Amino acid sequence: MNTQKVAIITGGGRGIGAATAKLFAKKGYAVCINYKSNAEAANQLAEAITMEGGKCICVQADVSCEDDVNRLFATVDRELGTLSVLVNNAGILKKQSRLVDMTADRINTILTNNVTSYFLCCREAVKRMSTLHGGQGGVIVNVSSVASRSGSPNEYIDYAASKGAIDTLTKGLSVEVAAEGIRVNCVRPGLIYTDMHADGGEPDRIERLKGVIPMQRGGQPEEVAEAIYWLASEKSSFSTGNYLDLSGGL
Ligand code: NAP
Repeated sequence: MNTQKVAIITGGGRGIGAATAKLFAKKGYAVCINYKSNAEAANQLAEAITMEGGKCICVQADVSCEDDVNRLFATVDRELGTLSVLVNNAGILKKQSRLVDMTADRINTILTNNVTSYFLCCREAVKRMSTLHGGQGGVIVNVSSVASRSGSPNEYIDYAASKGAIDTLTKGLSVEVAAEGIRVNCVRPGLIYTDMHADGGEPDRIERLKGVIPMQRGGQPEEVAEAIYWLASEKSSFSTGNYLDLSGGL
């Protein structure tokens, strides 16, 4: 019988997701690296993991799309086996803007990519993990943001509000499935060095803002990955419905 634990990392090809996929593979998980469009980044990461003796697959799926999410989870069932951990990490940011200039199209794109996607992936994970449905339990770690507390005025209130929804999803679902063997927690990163800031229109945003971070520096994706791994591990076995901020004190 295959006893290797299985983890899905959504948006696992780049940034925080890639650091998380690497760490989980190093710790012995069979990893599914999900990505939306950057196949090259996902495949390069998979190659590096495999070279180091890890097991992984890459699955293209837009997690804001229900059919794609169903296909993603069915592929993991078939190719890797019983799901132990879901890391809901995929997310997007739009150009910095005040609310008065936001269109419905932009707001809906942010919400479907950052919120609907997490709900759909949680649904599929719970179906497989819940002892009520014959599962063996499991862990969900959602990647939120300190933006859920700050609201990101003058930059992206839409993004911040999407992360507020993830905090609420984490709290509600954690209680809903607590007696079914599933723990649900979230990490809330602050300013982390990834390509996401370029999508917001300011690649060097962390350089501008690092002076307001009490630790006077941005964070590395690997520092977030370690916290995600801890929340997924048995070391945090009595933790559910919690938020772990990784923000250098911000
Ligand atoms: P990133 O480097 O821009 O990577 C985003 C990843 O998400 C990419 O792999 C991308 O896929 C994937 N993705 C986006 N939409 C998707 C969709 N609909 N379906 C599947 N995959 C999708 O971003 P990051 O900074 O690592 O962000 C990861 C998470 O951390 C996000 O939830 C973000 O909100 C959160 N976060 C980041 C920071 C920060 O400072 N960087 C701070 C707080 C929270 P492709 O590679 O195919 O494009």
